[in-house]
Amino acid sequence: DAHKETLGFQTEAKQLLHLMIHSLYSNREIFLRELISNASDAADKLRFEALENDSLYEGDSDLKVRVSVDKEARTLTISDNGIGMSRDEVIEHLGTIAKSGTAQFLKNLTGDQKKDSKLIGQFGVGFYSAFIVADKVVVTTRKAGFPASEAVRWESAGEAEFSVETVEKADRGTSIELHLRSDADEFADDWRLRSIIKKYSDHIDIPVLMQKLQTSEEDKDKAPEDEVVNTATALWTRSRSDISDEEYKEFYKHVSHDYADPLTWSHNRVEGKLDYTSLLYVPEHAPFDLYNRDGARGLKLYVQRTFIMDDAEQFLPLYLRFIKGVVDSNDLSLNVSREILQKDPNIDTMRTALTKRVLDMLTKMAKNEPEQYAKFWTEFGQVLKEGPAEDFANREKIAKLLRFASTHTDKPEQDQSLDDYISRMQEGQDKIYYIAAENFNTAKNSPHLEVFRKKGIEVLLMFDRVDEWLMSHLMEYDGKSFQDAGKGELDLGKLDSEDEKQAQEKQAEELKPLLERVKKALENDVAEVRITHRLTESPACVVVAEHEMGAQMRRILEQAGQ
Ligand code: ADP
Ligand code: MG
Repeated sequence: DAHKETLGFQTEAKQLLHLMIHSLYSNREIFLRELISNASDAADKLRFEALENDSLYEGDSDLKVRVSVDKEARTLTISDNGIGMSRDEVIEHLGTIAKSGTAQFLKNLTGDQKKDSKLIGQFGVGFYSAFIVADKVVVTTRKAGFPASEAVRWESAGEAEFSVETVEKADRGTSIELHLRSDADEFADDWRLRSIIKKYSDHIDIPVLMQKLQTSEEDKDKAPEDEVVNTATALWTRSRSDISDEEYKEFYKHVSHDYADPLTWSHNRVEGKLDYTSLLYVPEHAPFDLYNRDGARGLKLYVQRTFIMDDAEQFLPLYLRFIKGVVDSNDLSLNVSREILQKDPNIDTMRTALTKRVLDMLTKMAKNEPEQYAKFWTEFGQVLKEGPAEDFANREKIAKLLRFASTHTDKPEQDQSLDDYISRMQEGQDKIYYIAAENFNTAKNSPHLEVFRKKGIEVLLMFDRVDEWLMSHLMEYDGKSFQDAGKGELDLGKLDSEDEKQAQEKQAEELKPLLERVKKALENDVAEVRITHRLTESPACVVVAEHEMGAQMRRILEQAGQ
């Protein structure tokens, strides 16, 4: 039986639908990119499943999308012969938002339409964008391998509810019929549609078909033919010089499900012992689950241009989990699995090479586009700081990419590199001084800094949670060791003059009795009392011994219940 039921959208989906219809108004044409992108994903999924089970093709392995218009009915239909959906899948995928971080996303909304549409951009709303141009959407779909009688019809006006019922559909795949809103006539125009497809979906590797335009009188008698509107070759297989920046950007949106442009990318073909192509992108915005170390990450893996899996996380280390893109290998087997990837020594080789590519791409951006790099640092700097601990071999390279706040600027912006610091080091200074505290102001106002300020020695100000972890793995940079300005005996070494040293020794002698008395009074609380030259204004301060845990680390461990 058809078993028609009406269901309510998940609350978040409802909110999102409403928002999208109202805030993406200025860029309505993107709905077509989203629907074609889904059709292409569906083709990828079918090809992958068919590797194991050829019968899923039902004799039709020529995968494609078709866009057609019915001017009189004012409908636009996007149909594919991809994997299709079962009834349960329809309800799940077209009734809820399964992606993590939805609640956080909605919390981030401001009510300001301009800002919110940017946020929606980061979130990616895919299928629901159909409602930007349609006041009714009908999806008819049949999953590959299911009988014709088990197709599903989904219908909604994009408000609170949708209905699903079981219907007949002879051909496999999904057809999406949009009933255009009264102000969306432009999307029933053939030329307009072609130009949108060229603009956004040219890189899609399956053909996008439209009915050939009938120009001459003769044509009128012939049956209408289809023609391919896009280039229909996987973008990464083309040569770099043939691909425009616009095409690279559109492809990024397709693979990342992001609406914003990427900051930069790197496209490379490697031939030799291993043969593979990679196209790696740095996004402009951090995803909401960046700090969830179990969140989705990794590259889209293809083997000889056949899609194998999303989120293949074996190709990059965890601290580069924000990188998006594609890797297409000619060496791996088509039935490679996550388990196999974990064991394959070739993957380690690729991972080393891809890691280097990413670090080189970031180094280049830092050098040539410092403004872009500053944006990158704001979004991803904290994750990059996990690098030296995770990737010993690339420690120096990563360190070069780090940015810090410093007493040189005395501002909370992390915009000073270690090379900047070194270029300002004093004559005779051989260490890089830093101080870690729980926030910028505490770091900046630390009494430990008094003597440094007096002597004009720069100190890096660290106040991110990850900083103490970082510094426990970063021993030196460019041959200079790091020194915590708040720890242990302070030896400004060659920076003190002979006169200063003599004066200090004399003072120490005179103050000995005082020290004895203070030590006695604080017997139970401190390990040692000593004269210091690090203070110029405060009378005294507490110092952690050289090899003890720093205050910040101690707080983190305490919070973690240790
Ligand atoms: P995303 O593509 O980012 O997953 P969408 O909102 O675009 O999000 O689509 C939601 C889900 O609906 C997809 O992940 C897919 O499972 C399903 N879907 C959408 N369109 C199609 C289609 N043409 N064929 C098969 N499944 C589809
Ligand atoms: Mg999508």
